Amino acid sequence: MFSKILIANRGEIACRVAATARRLGVQTVAVYSEADALSKHVAACDEAVLIGPAAAKESYLLGDKIIAVALAAGAQAIHPGYGFLSENADFADACANAGLVFIGPPADAIRAMGSKSAAKTLMEKASVPLVPGYHGENQDADFLHQQADRIGYPVLLKASAGGGGKGMRVIEHSADFKAALASCQREALSSFGDDKVLAEKYLQRPRHIEIQVFADTLGNCVYLFERDCSVQRRHQKVLEEAPAPGMTAERRAAMGSAAVAAAKAVGYVGAGTVEFIANQDGSFYFMEMNTRLQVEHPVTEMITGTDLVEWQLRVASGEALPLRQEQLQIHGHALEARIYAENPDKGFLPSIGRLVHMQTPAAINFALGGQPDPAGFRIDSGVRAGDTISPFYDPMIAKMIVWGKDRNEALARMAQALAQYQIVGLSSNIGFLQRLIHSHAFAGADLDTGLIERNQAELFPPQTALSLPLIALAAVSLLQSEIHSAGRNPWSSSHGWRMNSQLQRQLTFRQEESHYQLDVTYQGKGWSMQLGDEQAQVQLISQDADNNFTLQIGALTVNGTVVRHGEHFHVFSLGQHRELGYTDPLLHAGEAEAETGRLTAPMPGKIVALLVVVGQTVSKGQPLLIMEAMKMEHTIAAPVDGIVKELMYLIGDQVSDGAQLLMFE
Ligand code: ADP
Repeated sequence: MFSKILIANRGEIACRVAATARRLGVQTVAVYSEADALSKHVAACDEAVLIGPAAAKESYLLGDKIIAVALAAGAQAIHPGYGFLSENADFADACANAGLVFIGPPADAIRAMGSKSAAKTLMEKASVPLVPGYHGENQDADFLHQQADRIGYPVLLKASAGGGGKGMRVIEHSADFKAALASCQREALSSFGDDKVLAEKYLQRPRHIEIQVFADTLGNCVYLFERDCSVQRRHQKVLEEAPAPGMTAERRAAMGSAAVAAAKAVGYVGAGTVEFIANQDGSFYFMEMNTRLQVEHPVTEMITGTDLVEWQLRVASGEALPLRQEQLQIHGHALEARIYAENPDKGFLPSIGRLVHMQTPAAINFALGGQPDPAGFRIDSGVRAGDTISPFYDPMIAKMIVWGKDRNEALARMAQALAQYQIVGLSSNIGFLQRLIHSHAFAGADLDTGLIERNQAELFPPQTALSLPLIALAAVSLLQSEIHSAGRNPWSSSHGWRMNSQLQRQLTFRQEESHYQLDVTYQGKGWSMQLGDEQAQVQLISQDADNNFTLQIGALTVNGTVVRHGEHFHVFSLGQHRELGYTDPLLHAGEAEAETGRLTAPMPGKIVALLVVVGQTVSKGQPLLIMEAMKMEHTIAAPVDGIVKELMYLIGDQVSDGAQLLMFE
């Protein structure tokens, strides 16, 4: 085993590799860009070296620089993670030339799988089933057209050098072929500098099923069963699971053997994934091989009880595979949800920003009594609360992986865990994942790559109205925060909190275009709250420093977390995350007026006390005068440091909304 490795990556995968290395007593060297100086992966490694600016091209993709860092640090090997340099054959060669072990397959295996057409030709020789199609050298337009007619429509054209779905065109009729070919070639040329294409049968409602393979340098090669990654948005995976629902033992063995044959055909070593596209009847075809560890590898680890990064390190240091094929078994069912900083309502557009608040699900002990602990709950993440999701890298926040003794148990646990995951500061796909988990298609294992598009109505329902408990949580959080910031705020404890008289006020919250008016009446031990026709007695049972509240609302006890972020209250309760807009009249009064030197009344009322005199020096936040409005006393505080120049009213005067109350400098 190595004594020190360099991890040429960032984020969750760098943290993931570091965790296993630490467990095995292997020291780790992190590399990082200027944008990542304070990031989790830097803290997770034993040492860390700055390699350049934020842009990946100037940092994480600088193979030579990373090799120099590894040599200087005395590392014996480089783990490339996924993405960045992980499938770069030249980098693998450069590592070898520098006397470093590349923790991945031989460079030639990466090259062999790099072109879709060449890989298919190789697979054909190894008797791995291929989608009916043409992947040869002849690129004559008429010849390709004949091939498409022979295959039968619909036909899919792909860029041979492709990736990320670029250049892919579905052709429904022979008459559309020429135009689609030209457009595929144009996109292929501009994206990959190579206009070579291949044509294949376009499958209807296919599933994406992939096989994890592992080979060592001693000639052993095994498969660690399948993962179903059919649930995709923008051709990218979002929910993965193992094993694949409906898989029979025979089919699994056939796919496993085909994957092992594919790996052997290219002299594979290390962790790899053979991706298949499968028909609903179970027939399957080779699509491509990813010559690295996949994002979704944890579901395989959970059902097989393995640590694939440990296997990678052992194999790369020359050891044999830890287990033989007949020693590998599937235990239960695992699901992975990718938590992304993105906005599902806006076409899954990435969202950037700071994780102002992040609370992850309490690690529920999923171990079953008497059975070996399958380590049934896991979050792999490269960020912590307070960190920023920047525009430079992948917007994945975390992967959450759960295990259950069967699919239903895993689904239930995933639903529970998602409901407990709280993020404030940027948009995330958590709500969408919750709907996906509960959707008829996913819950019923009716899987195919078009699942999300086919179930738009169920997955993107209109926002439901806010209920009284959710609004009450926001309101109580607001009222309590006012008590704790007495002095700044008018409804402070000393003035607004009257034990025996009936004091009322109205709070207005927004959800998108809808306004919700909550009438609050202060009472001895709590409040009476009215929302439309609904009325309830509300009491605060408890509140802690982490914004967790317990309220008694009528006969109901409700728990929730309320996080205020600017003018929004984020309420997490009853399995939901709701964002309530709230305009704080005072905050705005102060902001706008700090510049002009005027202070105006935020609502109509009566002056009940003047706390300063003309010429007095006041500091920001100092109470200046007290108004009474809506049966409540209301303190006007200085928005900035200054001197009182003029007082416009006397005690007892009525003032209208927006009236200028005093001038200061
Ligand atoms: P890329 O490398 O550009 O991502 P892939 O060949 O991996 O392209 O295919 C990406 C996705 O496109 C697959 O996961 C699947 O959803 C869909 N796809 C690919 N080939 C076919 C096909 N022959 N029929 C139907 N869908 C396909």
